[in-house]
Amino acid sequence: MLQDIIEQCKAKAQIAFNKLQEQAASVAAEAKAVAKNLLAEAQQQAEKVYTLGRQELLLLWEKGRARAAALAAVAKIRAEMYKRRARTRYQAVRNAWCGNQHFTFWLIPADGQHVARKHVKKAHIKYAFTGFASVVIALGIALGVLGHMAIQNEAQKQELAEYKQTKQEQAQKIQELQQMAEKNQKQLAYLSKLEDQVRSQMEKSGAQLPPKSDASVYAGKGGASLGSASEVNVMLEQEKNISLQAKAKAENFQKLLGAIENENYRRDVTPSQWPTDGGFISSPFGGRPNPFSGYGRDWHPGIDIAVDYGTPVYASAAGYVQQAGWYGGYGKYIRLGHDFGYETAYGHMSRLAVSAGSFVKKGEVIGYVGSTGYSTGPHLHFEILKYGEQVNPSSLM
Ligand SMILES: [Zn+2]
Repeated sequence: MLQDIIEQCKAKAQIAFNKLQEQAASVAAEAKAVAKNLLAEAQQQAEKVYTLGRQELLLLWEKGRARAAALAAVAKIRAEMYKRRARTRYQAVRNAWCGNQHFTFWLIPADGQHVARKHVKKAHIKYAFTGFASVVIALGIALGVLGHMAIQNEAQKQELAEYKQTKQEQAQKIQELQQMAEKNQKQLAYLSKLEDQVRSQMEKSGAQLPPKSDASVYAGKGGASLGSASEVNVMLEQEKNISLQAKAKAENFQKLLGAIENENYRRDVTPSQWPTDGGFISSPFGGRPNPFSGYGRDWHPGIDIAVDYGTPVYASAAGYVQQAGWYGGYGKYIRLGHDFGYETAYGHMSRLAVSAGSFVKKGEVIGYVGSTGYSTGPHLHFEILKYGEQVNPSSLM
């Protein structure tokens, strides 16, 4: 029973399913048909539009072509027209000038009567025109040449004026230079005088002088006229002479300066300075009675200068300290070596201010007066030697 019901239901369901399937198939077929129709319709429409557009475009193209052709034709006709017109005019001008024609001039007075007529051959007009043109061209050339000449003349005038001014300026400068040369010569003369004075003063002070330069190389020359020489060349020669003279002067003064320096050095290293401030010679140079025993004679190799204890002792000349220290009977003693073979010695000092080996200037303090060694009282024993020989200090002070 139940089985039957189930079978019945199954069968009914199958039938319903089949029915539904059929319905769906018919709906699908219907939809397909509709779609096909729509597509066909759309295609037809599109084709229609395309065909219409194409026809319109073709129409426009044809129209444009026709218009361009019409314009070209018009232009061609116009060109032909202009060409013909130009040819006609050219022929007219050509006929007028090249044909053997006559021209007639009418001269009509204000009253209108007595009209004058003149026939002229065309060839004559041509000649007249050519002649007139030639005259105009010739006049133009002549004017140009004249104008150019005028400009050139003006330029030359200006150049001449400038030249004149330059020449004047040069003449003035030459004059100034001549005055300067004269002034320089005067100054050179003054320098010569000065040189002579310096030499003479130096000779008086016993300096060794160099010989004077020879002045003959710049001796002056001259005549009444310039001859072939120009003013400028004469001046150049003068300048050369002045320059040579100045050079000789400079050399002379250089030599004098050298001589002065030598002289100063000689004086500096030659003992001449009194070795103390003040004092007096208590015992002279040379033979004297023996100062200690009083018996017999004694050789005194220097001078004794009696002066207060502690008075500074000065170097009598510039030199170097050969010896400084205690030296037997001389007590505290200093010996200086100078140039030109000179030596000086100082004895009996209370104190020494320099040590052996050092250099001292002329007048520098080297010690102080005392009474060391064999001495009877404060005094300075002072000696001068030349090449090892004792000399009297009084002869140099
Ligand atoms: Zn002495």
